[in-house]
Amino acid sequence: MAVIRDIIPAFEIFQPASIDDAVRLIDKYRGDYWVLAGGLDSMDWLKDRLRRPRYVIDLTQIKELVGIKDTGGGLEIGAMTPLTQVVHHPVVRDKFGLLAEAAELVASPQIRNQGTIGGNVSQDTRCWYYRGTRRRRWWRSTRRW
Ligand SMILES: Cc1cc2nc3c(=O)[nH]c(=O)nc-3n(C[C@H](O)[C@H](O)[C@H](O)COP(=O)(O)OP(=O)(O)OC[C@H]3O[C@@H](n4cnc5c(N)ncnc54)[C@H](O)[C@@H]3O)c2cc1C
Repeated sequence: MAVIRDIIPAFEIFQPASIDDAVRLIDKYRGDYWVLAGGLDSMDWLKDRLRRPRYVIDLTQIKELVGIKDTGGGLEIGAMTPLTQVVHHPVVRDKFGLLAEAAELVASPQIRNQGTIGGNVSQDTRCWYYRGTRRRRWWRSTRRW
C-alpha cells in the first residue's frame, strides 16, 4: 500500500488556451512534463510522487478539445469531453451504443462528470502494486552511485 502524502511536490503549471500552444509546450518540455485533464488519476500520481514532472500542462482551458461532432460516417470526440457527455450524447447513444454503455459503466456520476474521455483512455494502471513496481524499476534504472 502506498504512503499517502498531502503535499504535491512543486511544479510549474501552464494553462494553454489552444491546441497549438499545448503542442508547443509539450515539445519544449519533452521528457519532463505531465498532461493534466480532469485530474482524477493525475493527482494520485503526483501526490504520491510516483511521477515528479517539473512542468504540468493543464488542458482545461482548451475549449476546442471539448465536444462531440457527428461527421456523417463517424464521430469526432474531443479529448477533454467529460464522460457524462459521451454517455448522454444522442448520436453516441443511437449509433455507437456500445461506447455509451461502456462510458456509463465507469465509476460514479461524479467521476464521469470530472473525468474526460482522453484521460480515461490514457490512464495508466490504477493498481497500487503495479504503480509501485514501475516506480522501483524506474528508480533502479536511473539511480547513480
Ligand atoms: C474512485 C475511482 C473509480 C474509478 N473507476 C473506474 C472504472 O470503473 N472504469 C474506468 O475505466 N476508470 C475508472 N476510474 C478511472 C477514471 O475513469 C479516470 O481516472 C479518469 O477518466 C481520468 O480522466 P481525467 O480527465 O481525470 O484525466 P487525468 O487524471 O488528468 O489524466 C489521466 C492520464 O491521462 C493523461 N492524459 C489526460 N488527457 C490526455 C490527453 N488529452 N492526451 C494525452 N494524455 C492525456 C494524463 O497525463 C494522465 O496520465 C476510476 C477513478 C476513480 C478515482
